[in-house]
Amino acid sequence: MADVDDRFAFPSTGLPSRRVHVITYGCQMNVFDTRRMLQVLRPLGYEETDDMTMADLILLNTCSVREKPEQKVIGTITRLKPLKEARPGLVLGIGGCVGQQHGKALLDRLPYLDLVFGPDNIRDLPDMLASVEKGRQVGNTRRMKRKDYEFVAVEARAEAGPTAFLTIIKGCDKVCAFCIVPHVRGREISKPPDQVVHEVEALVARGVREVTLLGQNVNSYGKDRPSEGDFADLLARVSAVPGLARLRFVTSHPADADRRMMECFRRLPNLAEYLHLPIQSASDTVLKRMRRGYTVAEYLLKIEMARDACPDIALSTDFIVGFPGETREDFDRSMALIEKVRFDIIFSFKYSPRPRTRAVRMEDDVPENEKADRLQALQDLQDRIMVSRMERFLGRVEEVLVEGASRARDFEWMGRTRTNRVVNFPTSPAGAVKPGDLVGVRIEEVKAHSLRGRVEEDAGL
Ligand code: SF4
Repeated sequence: MADVDDRFAFPSTGLPSRRVHVITYGCQMNVFDTRRMLQVLRPLGYEETDDMTMADLILLNTCSVREKPEQKVIGTITRLKPLKEARPGLVLGIGGCVGQQHGKALLDRLPYLDLVFGPDNIRDLPDMLASVEKGRQVGNTRRMKRKDYEFVAVEARAEAGPTAFLTIIKGCDKVCAFCIVPHVRGREISKPPDQVVHEVEALVARGVREVTLLGQNVNSYGKDRPSEGDFADLLARVSAVPGLARLRFVTSHPADADRRMMECFRRLPNLAEYLHLPIQSASDTVLKRMRRGYTVAEYLLKIEMARDACPDIALSTDFIVGFPGETREDFDRSMALIEKVRFDIIFSFKYSPRPRTRAVRMEDDVPENEKADRLQALQDLQDRIMVSRMERFLGRVEEVLVEGASRARDFEWMGRTRTNRVVNFPTSPAGAVKPGDLVGVRIEEVKAHSLRGRVEEDAGL
């Protein structure tokens, strides 16, 4: 069993091989941040392991957007305590939004925890680990100023498979009453467009076929760099990278979704037909209290623009039910809008108050059982709509980007349509298809959350 000194001792042959296990919670931005952590740790000799009992360093990359994931983080770190007691050399750290939110208080509360850091401090991991090596508990949640902030450049070899995420903007300048993100992720900072394009080129050179541009508020991109173009300009530049088969982006804010952005779906051939546009509620009264910055009519106009530019576009959204003051009539308006728009996917949640937000000062007056009933009703409605939205694929030949082996059945591939639907299909003809290929798949079966089909040889892709 290694003690702290052994673990950090560099053998004469070079860097030691150490193992790191990262548990990731939350959104795709966190998935991306986890890759950056691994990238920053690799020069220190860390290799990733799936087996946390073999790890020398365990990091929890956390999310505090909702209460439940935050509770999970505390539960997980508590369960790791016996492992730490058995192997005192094991380093335990909490990063991400929970780290940023609670900072050093976590170190006081959990004395066996070595390290707490925020999303801005990933670059500093080597220095933090050096301090831990000296036997210190380390808390680093220093928020970087816009002028000092540097994105960790994406390392192409760290990406696995034919798809990759790429953060292009961090933070959020909006003030949604329920949301803790601006408090933990700070103000918006856009990655320079030349850097974005360069990183996409590097990913494509490594074999990536599809890139998803990420941001808490991705379509606010460029507002802090007005002379360098807006989000639509960036989409056009990235779309033109030779060899990039597909481009996606997430998450868009309705208030920043303008016609220029929507027109990209018409004019950029590799921009996939999928748009996530969170509405949260279809009551103007609730939207105003949420401080979302748009009305229902304005939201519907954006949906119209999207469908006008791209009639077959797949639309997804978020709803929060039971926000303070949401009446039954407010909720019914949300149900009516769902019937009207017919989203492909809805991510829906019960409201839960988050510290440091405006909504926490409002009376959480919708009873828990009523929130649960509303959530169930909304999800039942969406399940019905989703099935009928999926049925439109039946018999069609869809362009599918092959991502890898199917988890549903042996000897099947899994890929996604341009509309972001999972498709499973048999591997025959054997050897003819590999990850990264674009194939035409005739859809023969529609399931609740996926499609099944068969490769169409002459699909002309
Ligand atoms: S737009 Fe609103 S909900 Fe989205 S991250 Fe910003 S504050 Fe949170």
